[in-house]
Amino acid sequence: MYHCHLQLYLAGRPCRAFEIMKEMAPLEHFAHEFLESPIPDGGLAAEAGVIFANLQETEIKEALDLLTGNKAADTELILLVDKGQAEFPEDGLQEVRDIWALPMSDAEIRFRFMRWQQACKLARDFWETSHFLDVTIDNVPNLIWYKDKNGIHEKVNESFCRTVNKTKKQVEGRGHAYIWDVEQDDPACIESERIVMSGRRTCVSEEIIQTGEGMRTLETYKSPLYDFDGSVMGTVGVAIDVTQERSYEKELTDKNRALEAMFTAMDCGIICHSLDGSRILSINNAALRILGYESAQEMIDSGFYMVASTVLEEDRPAMCKRIRELRREGDSVGVEYRVRHKDGQLLHIMGNIKLIRENGELYYQRFLLDCTEQKLKEKKKERLQMELIQALSIDYNLVCFYELDTGVGMPLRNDDSEKEMFGSAFGTDASFEESMEFYIGQFVHEDDREMLRKACSRDRICEELARRKLYCVNYRIVIGDEMKYFQVKIVRAGSWEESRGIVIGFHSVDEETRSEMEKKCLLEDALIQANRASKAKTVFLSNMSHDIRTPMNAIIGFTALAITHIDRKDQVEEYLKKIMTSGNHLLSLINDVLDMSRIESGKVKIEEKEASLPEIIHDLKTIVQSDVKAKQLSFFIDTQDVTNEIIVCDKLRLNQVLLNLLSNAMKYTRPGGTVSVRIIQTGDAPEGYADFEFRVKDTGIGMSREFLEHIFEPFEREQTATISGIQGTGLGLSITKNIVDMMHGTIAVESELGKGSEFIVSFRFRTAGKPLKTEHLSQLAGLRALVVDDDINTCTSISKMLSAMGLRPDWTTLGKEAVVRSRFALEQEEPFDLYLVDWLMPDMNGVETVRRIRAIVGPEAPIIILTAYDWGDIEEEAREVGVTTFCSKPVFLSELCDVLAAPYERLGEAEKEEPLPECFEGKKILLVEDNEINQEIARTILEEAGFVIDTADDGT
Ligand code: ADP
Repeated sequence: MYHCHLQLYLAGRPCRAFEIMKEMAPLEHFAHEFLESPIPDGGLAAEAGVIFANLQETEIKEALDLLTGNKAADTELILLVDKGQAEFPEDGLQEVRDIWALPMSDAEIRFRFMRWQQACKLARDFWETSHFLDVTIDNVPNLIWYKDKNGIHEKVNESFCRTVNKTKKQVEGRGHAYIWDVEQDDPACIESERIVMSGRRTCVSEEIIQTGEGMRTLETYKSPLYDFDGSVMGTVGVAIDVTQERSYEKELTDKNRALEAMFTAMDCGIICHSLDGSRILSINNAALRILGYESAQEMIDSGFYMVASTVLEEDRPAMCKRIRELRREGDSVGVEYRVRHKDGQLLHIMGNIKLIRENGELYYQRFLLDCTEQKLKEKKKERLQMELIQALSIDYNLVCFYELDTGVGMPLRNDDSEKEMFGSAFGTDASFEESMEFYIGQFVHEDDREMLRKACSRDRICEELARRKLYCVNYRIVIGDEMKYFQVKIVRAGSWEESRGIVIGFHSVDEETRSEMEKKCLLEDALIQANRASKAKTVFLSNMSHDIRTPMNAIIGFTALAITHIDRKDQVEEYLKKIMTSGNHLLSLINDVLDMSRIESGKVKIEEKEASLPEIIHDLKTIVQSDVKAKQLSFFIDTQDVTNEIIVCDKLRLNQVLLNLLSNAMKYTRPGGTVSVRIIQTGDAPEGYADFEFRVKDTGIGMSREFLEHIFEPFEREQTATISGIQGTGLGLSITKNIVDMMHGTIAVESELGKGSEFIVSFRFRTAGKPLKTEHLSQLAGLRALVVDDDINTCTSISKMLSAMGLRPDWTTLGKEAVVRSRFALEQEEPFDLYLVDWLMPDMNGVETVRRIRAIVGPEAPIIILTAYDWGDIEEEAREVGVTTFCSKPVFLSELCDVLAAPYERLGEAEKEEPLPECFEGKKILLVEDNEINQEIARTILEEAGFVIDTADDGT
């Protein structure tokens, strides 16, 4: 590389050697320039790089002094002398490089010159090498040093000097402590050098040193330096300042570590896998946790192929489809799917998949986020909202949301599981108009279709809802054969201006509409009723005023008459009787009105007790008997199939009902007419109960069909009744009906104007009472009996009772036939053992019939009379013709038993008028009554009975 332009000074006389030298070529890197002078010249000597001086036949000392005195210090001097040339100054030879003794052959001259050239080149080459080394080591940033065995720095480079802030001079020849400004040599450093030297190998270590610029980290390479003999003579060290790198490295490592920590610990799952899904490049803990695996291996083993095997089957196709849509690097897509863990837990995952390129290969980078909680919250919120909608729209069969602008919508609530009212009209597929049209065509009543179509047209809804928030239309639907009232309610939803959202709800208003219609009807009815009641009240008042005034007038009039005729006892008695009659009528009138008001105010209570049906009926008969007689009515009472005589009922109220009906029957039947009461035990009432029918029938004036509809309403009276002048309040039947209702019975009426009426009251009573005593009847078993009564019902009813008692009954409705049959039976030697004969018969009365039968059968056979009258009235006559005893009508089983059991015992014991017991005579009695009139009445009665009376006005 270097170039050496060498000036060769050939001093002295020219010679063969000089010629040869000039002939010889210079070596590589060298160029020769020859300077010559026959006598050594000081000036040329100073210029030359090398001097060849021919000192043959020359004064050596003088020439030597001249040349050495002028040449440069490093200019080599080679002397050519004669062999044996005598005087060589000894002290001037140290400046001489070589001495050639002439003569020498040409070859030797060439050899010597070449050797000199080589030596010269060697020196230059060495210079070049050491120059290279110096420049190199001084210009590298690394620290370089050479030390001897003892750690003394032989050579250092510039970088070293800069680092230790010292000059080369200061450093070279010095030890570690001085250079690094420390108290003593670093033992570690000495040790490391010892290891290098003894181990003869390069040692690499990192050292942290203090420099003027602070702490530096050096990576040091220390290697042994060998001596010529191969022994270690020292060390060479190279130190690279890696402070920056280390800090970068540390930073990088720290960053990496942080990133890795983040990667593994972050909540977001990350997976990197190959395009075919077979290779997983990386996966973090979160991804494993989210997908439900312990390790990546487990995930692969379980069959990861693009999608983990824990992803729900139904979510996979959509997911794979979306992944396949990614084509170019950087493409990404969001996915949502669900994962089912081994323990059954279901997770909702939100993911992102991106196509990335790394080291030239395309991969999927996937992010997974467990959004289960959020999803559950959303779902809960959604459910809550849905529940809210459901709750708010509970009255609605169908609620939908629609955007009028697009017609798109969906049902929010559908209660029509049977698809009866809407079918599948309102789904998500069809538009609002299509759905509505389908619905109207399928379900809406023909007459309402056009109306609803118009009312629910988009324009109409917009128009209506622009003005108000809510819009309703009523219409009818048809389900099968049934028609129902419906309503559609439309409200604005959301921002009306933006999309014209509506919520449309359908609900049945059938009940309300019908009940409203019913109410309307009821109101109309009530109005009619009220008008009628008001009219009835007016009529009542006018009747009452008439009804009250009439007896009052009579009372006042007759009282006045009585006063004027006070001395005429007969007349006064007559007047008082009339006053009494009018008073009684007035009292009954007032009683009725009071009864009615008591019932209406709920003061009347039903008090049930055990009661005897025969007793009730006989009492009833007794009460009406005198009226029946007075009015010359035909009156019958009979029973049919009555087996339960002891019942549990409110005797008083039952009596009131029957008496009301019976007294009406008598009141509205003209003299000579017929009134009958029939008691029938009907049906199959459950154990412990008995059903009864009480039929009160008359042949009276009857009632019109129209009147019958209102017969039980208070104050209602048939025109015929008022016209015929029969007194009444129009309250009796209303009271009766109320009592029957309270007793859980029913009352019905059949009537025909001019022909008569029949009232039928039905009750179910609890039964009580003991079984009939039949043991004393055993002697009657098998006896033949003949029942004779013109009423066929009585015949059959009594025959049934007799059969029940073990007798063999026969019956006839004709007295004459009874006589004939008695005779015939006797002739047949099968006579009747006893007879039951009605006292009143149209063809032949009881007296005659008994007389004839007695004549035939002789005195033994008991003949029992059936009579509705007082036995006392007919007893004498009956005895005369041979009657044994009697049984009062209507005939009850218990009584018949008693009568048959003791046929002769009863005879003669019949009711006699009981005289007032004499034991009251002279007894003292305290009468407490504040009403003067009542006091007077009671006093009169009690005095008659023989009491001695004391009175008090009040309880104290
Ligand atoms: P009244 O005090 O007028 O008899 P009711 O309430 O007992 O009141 O009867 C109402 C009306 O029903 C009577 O006024 C009469 O017109 C009619 N009525 C009741 N019972 C009979 C009957 N047995 N025959 C004909 N009409 C009757």
